[in-house]
Amino acid sequence: MTVIIAGGGIAGLTMGLTLHEIGVPFHILESVTDPKPLGVGINLQPPCVRELFALGLEDMLDQVGVKTRDYGFYTKTGVEIWTEPRGRHAGYNWPQYSVHRGELQMGLLKALLDRCGADSITFGCRVTQYTNTDQGVAVIYQEGETIKSMSGQMLVAADGVHSAIRAQMYPDEGAPVWGGAIMWRGTTTAPAFLSGTSMILAGHDTQRFVTYPISAPDPETGATLINWIAEAKVNPHDHIEKSDWNRKVDASRFASDFAAWDFGWIDIPALIANANEVFEYPMVDREPVESWTDGAVTLIGDAAHATYPVGSSGASQAIIDARLLGAAIKAQGTGHAAAKTYEDQVRPMANAVTLANRGNGGPDAIMQMAEDRCAGDFARLDDVLPMQERRDHAESFKKLARIRVEDTNTQAPIIA
Ligand SMILES: Cc1cc2nc3c(=O)[nH]c(=O)nc-3n(C[C@H](O)[C@H](O)[C@H](O)COP(=O)(O)OP(=O)(O)OC[C@H]3O[C@@H](n4cnc5c(N)ncnc54)[C@H](O)[C@@H]3O)c2cc1C
Repeated sequence: MTVIIAGGGIAGLTMGLTLHEIGVPFHILESVTDPKPLGVGINLQPPCVRELFALGLEDMLDQVGVKTRDYGFYTKTGVEIWTEPRGRHAGYNWPQYSVHRGELQMGLLKALLDRCGADSITFGCRVTQYTNTDQGVAVIYQEGETIKSMSGQMLVAADGVHSAIRAQMYPDEGAPVWGGAIMWRGTTTAPAFLSGTSMILAGHDTQRFVTYPISAPDPETGATLINWIAEAKVNPHDHIEKSDWNRKVDASRFASDFAAWDFGWIDIPALIANANEVFEYPMVDREPVESWTDGAVTLIGDAAHATYPVGSSGASQAIIDARLLGAAIKAQGTGHAAAKTYEDQVRPMANAVTLANRGNGGPDAIMQMAEDRCAGDFARLDDVLPMQERRDHAESFKKLARIRVEDTNTQAPIIA
């Protein structure tokens, strides 16, 4: 066994597919016994879509999502602050996709099983510990009641925001950091809004609504499956449950706060009222750390850099991580050197994105700027928040997160 991957989520499955592409043996240990398409919507930015296309997954993406046309910010009364084209409409050579997270994971898993066989992944195995050895690494994991071990030349920790491997590297870190906001996430079958594949954010720091379709419109009814997130700041000293993407709640917890948010072109109270299911998740991230690598062990995806889901960075960066680590392994072989090459390429930027998303640097910060400067009178928007400032704000995040059109289009492929 050459590379052991802990976690078969978005990052771990992309890592497996990448190692298969470059001919490096691997095995994925995934804690879930019976994989199901869990989660709701996520966005895939063009740089990561490029990598999924390189893996031959374009058809799968077309099946599990829609190509996002534009991305707009609105005030709490539905006044437009800033809208920009996305994907190919913005000049990228690749589209941006809004996808159902669980369907994407199932699509990646199917590709893995088709290409590498059922022996490439074992379900029901929770990785608990590692030890660096002369040959590479020894991994301890729990399968049912049985404690087992596996040896390899390298361990890639793709075990998400509650990573056991990261907890071993940082034993005092504790739970993810909660900033005081709660997200309620759901999907509703409803008429498409604006361009039909628009993503919008409305509101400000303490209360907002994010929404975008994740299916193509029904040709007869025009209805789409619309993903949405209602978000509110609460008392940060309140008790919160451990962050669990699958905790279902009743929409009555927050629906009344959005009762007035029918903007005409989108009816937010109706989206909430007609939701299939609603999930509650605290807005958490991880404090940036100074190292992701310990000997032949390295962190990727949320295990390395969990961030607030405001700039579509989570899944996109997880996929890029897997590709960059794959390229480093291809060039330097498995082990510490490749892990450090990948880490040095990603960690400073990913840490900066995490901090930007907490404060004024995330793309969504433009909504609070409008709220602060207009003091409720959004007719004054053009006077107090000039268009050039809005444009500069949008561009600065793209530069930080390395998703500018010109950079993406001119960069060499990660794996030639
Ligand atoms: C069930 C679920 C639902 C989600 N829903 C959403 C959503 O609706 N919206 C959104 O923005 N983000 C969601 N996310 C998070 C999102 O997938 C990630 O932010 C992003 O895709 C980065 O992916 P990742 O592979 O690093 O982490 P994840 O996608 O979280 O994958 C981590 C994987 O590791 C497995 N795992 C965990 N611990 C161990 C262990 N000790 N040993 C072995 N395997 C382990 C998990 O079961 C999981 O399959 C969800 C994650 C999960 C697990």
